[in-house]
Amino acid sequence: MINKLLVIGMLAMFLSATTYAAAEDVYITQQGTKYHKEDCRLIKNKENVTKMDKKQAIEEGYGPCKTCFKEDIVAGEGQKEQKQAKKSK
Ligand SMILES: [Zn+2]
Repeated sequence: MINKLLVIGMLAMFLSATTYAAAEDVYITQQGTKYHKEDCRLIKNKENVTKMDKKQAIEEGYGPCKTCFKEDIVAGEGQKEQKQAKKSK
């Protein structure tokens, strides 16, 4: 009888752990239009940094930061940036 409770408890813990891993927290600044990772250097010195779910940030129109979310940009519209890469200097 106690075993049954244990199994249910462990199952609940496992499920909540899975849900937690799926949700990714990102950080946005009040005036910024990008979402950042917690350790991004671009938000290190900012005071009004808001933590929110990545999905929510995208739904509200935020895009991936070029510094800390490079992989998101490459996965999304990496091809567009190749043309802009050739800047004469
Ligand atoms: Zn960033």
